Amino acid sequence: MEEFDYVIVGAGTAGCVVASRLAADGRHRVLLLEAGGSDRHPYIQLPIGYGRLLFDPHINWMYETEAEPALAGRRGFWPRGKVVGGSGSINALLYVRGLPSDFDDWQALGNPGWGYQDVLPYFLKSEDHGSDAGPFHSRGGPMHVTDVSADAHPLCQLYVQSCEALGFHYTADFNGANGEGVGIYQINTRRGRRASTANEFLRPALAHANLVLRQRAQATRVLFEGRRAAGIEFLHGGRRCQVKANRAVVLCGGSINSPQLLQLSGIGSSALLQSLGIPVVADLPGVGQNLQDHLAVTYFFNSSQPTLNDELNSFAGKFKVALQYLLHRRGTLAMSVNQGGGFVRSDASQRVPNLQLYFNPVSYTHTPLADRKLLRPDPFSAFLLSFNSCRPTSRGSLNITSADPMVHPRIQPNYLATDQDLADALSGCRLLRQLAATPPLSQVITGELEPGPNVRSDAELLQDFRSRSSTVFHPVSTCMMGPDARSAVVDARLRVHGLKDLWVVDSSVFPTITSGNVNAPTVMVAEKGADMIHEDGGAG
Ligand SMILES: Cc1cc2nc3c(=O)[nH]c(=O)nc-3n(C[C@H](O)[C@H](O)[C@H](O)COP(=O)(O)OP(=O)(O)OC[C@H]3O[C@@H](n4cnc5c(N)ncnc54)[C@H](O)[C@@H]3O)c2cc1C
Repeated sequence: MEEFDYVIVGAGTAGCVVASRLAADGRHRVLLLEAGGSDRHPYIQLPIGYGRLLFDPHINWMYETEAEPALAGRRGFWPRGKVVGGSGSINALLYVRGLPSDFDDWQALGNPGWGYQDVLPYFLKSEDHGSDAGPFHSRGGPMHVTDVSADAHPLCQLYVQSCEALGFHYTADFNGANGEGVGIYQINTRRGRRASTANEFLRPALAHANLVLRQRAQATRVLFEGRRAAGIEFLHGGRRCQVKANRAVVLCGGSINSPQLLQLSGIGSSALLQSLGIPVVADLPGVGQNLQDHLAVTYFFNSSQPTLNDELNSFAGKFKVALQYLLHRRGTLAMSVNQGGGFVRSDASQRVPNLQLYFNPVSYTHTPLADRKLLRPDPFSAFLLSFNSCRPTSRGSLNITSADPMVHPRIQPNYLATDQDLADALSGCRLLRQLAATPPLSQVITGELEPGPNVRSDAELLQDFRSRSSTVFHPVSTCMMGPDARSAVVDARLRVHGLKDLWVVDSSVFPTITSGNVNAPTVMVAEKGADMIHEDGGAG
């Protein structure tokens, strides 16, 4: 059997960081297994291209949730990257660390070493900030962060001014001294190209002979010697293969696949495993539970001023943005369409911001979701406002339904299950309406396309939220970190409770969802996780 020191499952956002850090000193042999293939696809590398990838089954696991009673019985579509770089190769690029209190909350839940002051050095370690950084940023780390505020669409200014008129202050940096306020999102690009962890961490690390990346290799089971993780079984080129891990097995499969692989390997609720005929290695009922996600709704408005719709629908506009990209690696094609944003409190009783805002100078109302193309928006001037609750309190679950690793697990998000989540949903809808009615933004709005003027009362707003809201692709916490093995899966060192030499290091370990987008905190978790694996050593 082939042998390595570390076997890592999943070359996604976290896996690329962990692999590059564990291989860095050249002393250990590291194998990185990835179920998907290469990320050398032009729409992966071109920042705005991600809209073309949402429904591409060649690079996407294409998950679907169960029908959600609270969302008018609808199923949710959950894309996840099945490609080198993982979901970080198909995401919208926003670089948002979350609020300091998110991490202080993690620590208060019984996870020493995860408070904001503990994790800040790891955010800094990964970062290569493109502008004058200041104390909350650093230069020279692997992952480039770009401040695109100079290139934001002019309508973003009107959005910010209307927010200010409502009493929310402008912040130049959601990741700086004060993450609260409204402004322009920073993004992960380098010279106009996606700065995924595959590009920024993995690619340079692959120059070292002690790191091996095996693509189209899907892990199907963790192999055990007693209670010690000793290797991985995987499918590669139609063959069932096994590899031995002398020091540790590290799962970086993301919030859907890490718990799935644990359950397939006999780690989870013993009742579930026995019902599927899977021998129980460890009865850990928390595997696949505690699922959290951000759920957003979008309001669309006709505009008297040109928007990206005008630019991207006309030949002259396309020519201009293409030229700008080719000559300067800047402009619309080098950006996310999520440009304006914010973290605000819906009312004074909120301890910290409870709503995240989006202002996108673009709209898609004339095509069904599956045909939505970022480069083909509505053929008229329009834009969108959107929000999600920062820290929803509902928790869902994910469970395998078969011992066959090729069968997708059953995903039940259990959205809007708490009064707090319902209250946030309603206050967010009201806030979007208020914003749209406030000058100067109101002065360019010529009509509300969706949900439209017939949706007015609280009951109508909530009903609309239930029938149109959708994920912003942030599932977390399905292998939750925590001290109690009855609910948590990993301890504060990210080791699976009760087992030896088995780590989970990805977005599934978040104790609670962070207040913003989850890629940057996943990179932080991976940086810290790699350090802890180094320190704790493994069997070798
Ligand atoms: C469309 C979209 C837009 C998003 N936009 C943003 C954004 O703008 N900003 C932000 O912060 N976050 C965003 N996110 C979320 C963010 O990208 C993810 O939360 C993050 O990438 C998760 O990282 P991860 O390492 O946990 O998992 P992933 O990056 O999903 O990596 C998991 C990897 O493991 C591989 N894998 C899984 N199972 C196996 C197996 N059995 N064997 C081998 N390999 C396996 C997968 O193929 C994948 O490559 C977005 C996500 C999506 C899908």
